[in-house]
Amino acid sequence: MDLCNLIEGISSSLLDHKLFQMILKNDFIIYGSILNNIFAGKQNLEDYRNNDVFDNSITIYGKFSYREILERDIREFIIKPILLGNELYSKTVLVSYTLLIDDIEFILDVLYIKNDVIESCINFYNELLITVSLDKLILNRKGLSVIDNKIGTPNPFIEALRDIKNKEFRVIVKLKPFTKKQCKYLKNLKKLGFKNKDSIIRPYYKKDKKCNICYDTEYRQFSILECNHVFHKKCLEKAIDEALKESHTFSCPYCSKKYLNFEVL
Ligand SMILES: [Zn+2]
Ligand SMILES: [Zn+2]
Repeated sequence: MDLCNLIEGISSSLLDHKLFQMILKNDFIIYGSILNNIFAGKQNLEDYRNNDVFDNSITIYGKFSYREILERDIREFIIKPILLGNELYSKTVLVSYTLLIDDIEFILDVLYIKNDVIESCINFYNELLITVSLDKLILNRKGLSVIDNKIGTPNPFIEALRDIKNKEFRVIVKLKPFTKKQCKYLKNLKKLGFKNKDSIIRPYYKKDKKCNICYDTEYRQFSILECNHVFHKKCLEKAIDEALKESHTFSCPYCSKKYLNFEVL
C-alpha cells in the first residue's frame, strides 16, 4: 500500500514509514497534530529530530479487539507502553507508547475503543464530497477525510479531535492536476478557513486598475495572477469556477498562461 498515493498529492516520509503502514493496515485512524504537521509541510522524519518528545506525538484510535495485532505489528518500535485508564470497566482505553523511529523518540497515543462503541459511530466520518462544518482531518486506510460532528460523534472523539489549529495546506507533489473530487475537497478545506499555500493568486491593492475580464475600473477587491494580470476577485473566481468544471487547468483570461487547478484554488 502506498500511502502517498492514498492521499494523492501529499507526500511525506512519515506516512511512507512502516509504522504508519501498520497503523492503517489494522484499521486504526490517525488524527490530530501529526496530520496537521504533514499538511503544513513538515514531511520528513528528520524534521522531528530536535523536538521535545511530547511534540512528537502521534494520535490514533481504533478497535480494542485489534490491540494485540497492532502491538505485534509495531513491536519493533515500542520502547515502553503505559496504560492510562481502567481496562475492565471503561468503553475506551488509552495506551501511550514510547516509540523509537530512526533514533527519534515519538509518543504514540492509542485510544482503543470497545467494539460495541465503534460500531455505533461508524458513520461519523464522511466521504470528502459531503460538506463539512469543522476542521478535523482524519486519515484512515481509505484516505483523508473530515469528521462531521453533527452525526452524533461520541464524546471521546469530540475532545480528541479539536486540535487542528494551524489551518494551512500545501500540495507537495505538483506533477499533475487534481481530480474533481480532490479539488472539491480542497475547496471544502478553504471554506473551513484553511489557506492554500500553493495558490498563485494574490490580492492586489493599487487603485486605478482595470479588470481584464469585465473591463470595468470600478474599485472592488482586485486579485493578481502570477503572470501579473489583474482582475476583480469576484470576476476571477467566477472564471476559475467555470474553467474547472470543464478542465483540470485554468488559463489566464488575458494572456492564456496555463495554471494547474490546485494553483488557482
Ligand atoms: Zn471584473
Ligand atoms: Zn496573464
